[in-house]
Amino acid sequence: MKVVKTVLLKVYEPNKEKREALDRILSLYADVLVFYLEVIRKAGIYRVVSLKKEQALTFLESITISTKAHPDPQFPIEEKIKTPVQTNIRRSAINKAYGMVKSYVSNLKNWYKEGKEPGHNKPSYPDPKNFSLTYYATDVELQDIFLRDGKEFHFVRLKVLSESGDYRKRNYPVKVYKRLFELMDSGYIPKNTATLIRRDKDFYLAVTLEKTIKRKKKPQKPETVINVDLNVERNLACIGIFETDWRKKNSKLKKINFINGELLRLVKKRDYLLHQVRVKQKLTGRSSTREDNKKLWKKINNLNRDIALKTAKEIAKITKECENAIVVFEKLKGLRGEKKKKSRELNRKLSYWLRKKIVDRVQEISIEEGFNVDFVYPGWTSRKCSFCGTKGERFSPSGSTALFKCPGCGYTVNADVNAVFNQHFLYLSHLLKAGGKRESVVSPGVSLKSSRKRTQSKGSLKSNSYVCV
Ligand SMILES: [Zn+2]
Repeated sequence: MKVVKTVLLKVYEPNKEKREALDRILSLYADVLVFYLEVIRKAGIYRVVSLKKEQALTFLESITISTKAHPDPQFPIEEKIKTPVQTNIRRSAINKAYGMVKSYVSNLKNWYKEGKEPGHNKPSYPDPKNFSLTYYATDVELQDIFLRDGKEFHFVRLKVLSESGDYRKRNYPVKVYKRLFELMDSGYIPKNTATLIRRDKDFYLAVTLEKTIKRKKKPQKPETVINVDLNVERNLACIGIFETDWRKKNSKLKKINFINGELLRLVKKRDYLLHQVRVKQKLTGRSSTREDNKKLWKKINNLNRDIALKTAKEIAKITKECENAIVVFEKLKGLRGEKKKKSRELNRKLSYWLRKKIVDRVQEISIEEGFNVDFVYPGWTSRKCSFCGTKGERFSPSGSTALFKCPGCGYTVNADVNAVFNQHFLYLSHLLKAGGKRESVVSPGVSLKSSRKRTQSKGSLKSNSYVCV
């Protein structure tokens, strides 16, 4: 499994003439990219996307470049672009256009499947505004930046376009960046290429580094099972850390952690912005996902992302501190399902995306850090008594903390803790029955059967019975 990191190096104050040469190659590249996006649209989006990358390249060249085999291409490039385009630049643009259209098609598919992300409109056909040029390996020379000679600046050689229209490589200074060496020291290997990016007036060079990581096999008998309930409204996460004893078929609660505090403040901030969106919506009578709310939505989505990344980092940190641990989440059901009142619908979507981002991020970190993630199906975890299995209800005496009270045995506990216990039993029964071998997602069917059979686990948990009110 490959992990990729990108380091952004600022191209440091090249002189005017050299700056213009960068500009020129970027705008030419932009024109070529736009040209090919248009060609793909005309030639048939699905026709192109169904081809493999190399096939698509050949096909798109055959309908735009005049050769002996195809003397009269359907969409000749020279009709649109007057400067002769070097093969490498053209091919890089074609590959980028192909990638953009491909992700457009998959975004569209997801959009239909999962419902709209709040504040996001239906994906539209790519119309790039910020251009970046990914160089072919032969058009860029980076050797100098990997030298550890203590110099403040290093040079990169980039292919640029002169005023008279010739392509040639020139030296550009970049500031030496420590992070590059840190990554290399931890086993990342720089790729032989780079991407030129313009942001306002500045140019940057993005260098990617790769590391191949061997995925650890899922432990069939994890010593620590970390069950995470992502409520994301009252607590961002409720984390139960359980120690398992496989000989005695027993498990013991070691600790319950809540993630809230600072992060919950960000949630409040986000909800305030959401409130503003609603107020605006009431005033204008328009949908809250309309254009005029774009800025607010951007802020809300950024906050959501920030919250998710920080929560994931915490979960990963807890996991890394435990021996032979596995993190277990509830499988997300997707956004389909019962629709709530319009005002609650947005919250539901936001919570869904927050949960999804947290889970995705923990999975990403798990690949890098070498721990494992597994899933159980939800459904019963929040409604059952974790002590006797009777169906019960959540209630909130103080308004802030939700409790679970069992009508059967009277057990009263923090509702999220109750869900974590249930999730843990569910997962344990899966490990005991399937030895972790069969499907990795535990289905609700298993949970029903196991509620009667879980005497061993229940016994040990009883002695540790955790009441959190
Ligand atoms: Zn009960």
